[in-house]
Amino acid sequence: MVYVPFYTIILTMPNDNILITGANGQIGSVLTDELRKHYGTDRVLATDIRILTKADGPFEQLDILDQDRLSHLIKEYKITQIYHLAAILSAKGEQNPRRTWDLNMNGLFNVLECARQLGIRKVFYPSSIAVFGPATPKVSVPQETVMDPSTVYGISKQAGEQWCAYYYKRFGLDIRSLRYPGIIGYQSPPGGGTTDYAVDIFHYAVRKEPFECFLQKDTGLPMIYMPDAIRATLEVMEAPSEWISVRSSYNLSGMSFTPSQLVAAIRKHVPDFKVTYKPDFRQQIADSWSSSVDDRIARQDWSWKPEYDLKAMTADMLKHLGHLAVL
Ligand code: NAD
Repeated sequence: MVYVPFYTIILTMPNDNILITGANGQIGSVLTDELRKHYGTDRVLATDIRILTKADGPFEQLDILDQDRLSHLIKEYKITQIYHLAAILSAKGEQNPRRTWDLNMNGLFNVLECARQLGIRKVFYPSSIAVFGPATPKVSVPQETVMDPSTVYGISKQAGEQWCAYYYKRFGLDIRSLRYPGIIGYQSPPGGGTTDYAVDIFHYAVRKEPFECFLQKDTGLPMIYMPDAIRATLEVMEAPSEWISVRSSYNLSGMSFTPSQLVAAIRKHVPDFKVTYKPDFRQQIADSWSSSVDDRIARQDWSWKPEYDLKAMTADMLKHLGHLAVL
């Protein structure tokens, strides 16, 4: 494989128009800004079922279950790429399994069908470490592995991965996908996942309030810092099609840590930070997932490499949230 630097690819990309679903969410709000920096504000249409109070560019309300409206917006804005983020996440999904299945699957079908019928050039679909389950290896999960997800969210993401691969094989639709680990960022609140504690904890630390963690102290999970997750998304989408050997979803790794390791990293900056542990229903979900992921194929295919480890991410989170005293 010939290595082409990422920024060379960006400079040579065509003039695409992009539609993002679920753009008001934890990832969507950051991804929208980043795509606008690369493609130009007017070329990136943010959509969500929730209306944005402050829009920094084109925004349209869209319920992803409304295929006619999606099709109308694609035509009106001459869309050539879709980033399909709208979904109900792992912890929230368990409160209403039927609705979660309906939104996560039929939302994806609407995107796939519109993309196929209207000649969309590329689609991005985020999968998740929730596709793994109790029978999956616990450490360094390989790309091809046993997947027996135990949440409706994980089941929907696993099925979604297979539908993406099917649309690629059957219709030649260029879909790229990443199995995101838990995403940690300072820019936006998390949306109801099992890894949300790792974002919330920073806000408590900065306010110097005691934090009650809903996972046990030794529960290790794969995580990634938002700038790495966004960069991975742009890199996999801009890679030449022939580099993409995985058409279901790529394993993606940033870092892995337990709550107590995260607390230790935060206490280097906030020494008197108090944390207690009170596991709830999310503990069972976390226990069914693996603690680390082998992302060798992403590294080989499109040169993926995370920049942030636990120490660097912790310092950067605290800096952005206003805790400036770095010991
Ligand atoms: P989020 O819950 O923060 O955002 C989801 C957005 O979808 C929300 O703004 C919501 O209003 C919107 N939405 C809900 N129902 C909708 C509908 N019917 N039509 C249109 N929009 C609707 O989620 P997120 O964390 O930003 O995740 C984005 C994607 O990444 C999801 O597909 C999620 O499964 C995946 N993912 C996220 C993580 C993570 O840690 N955040 C990890 C793995 C995968």
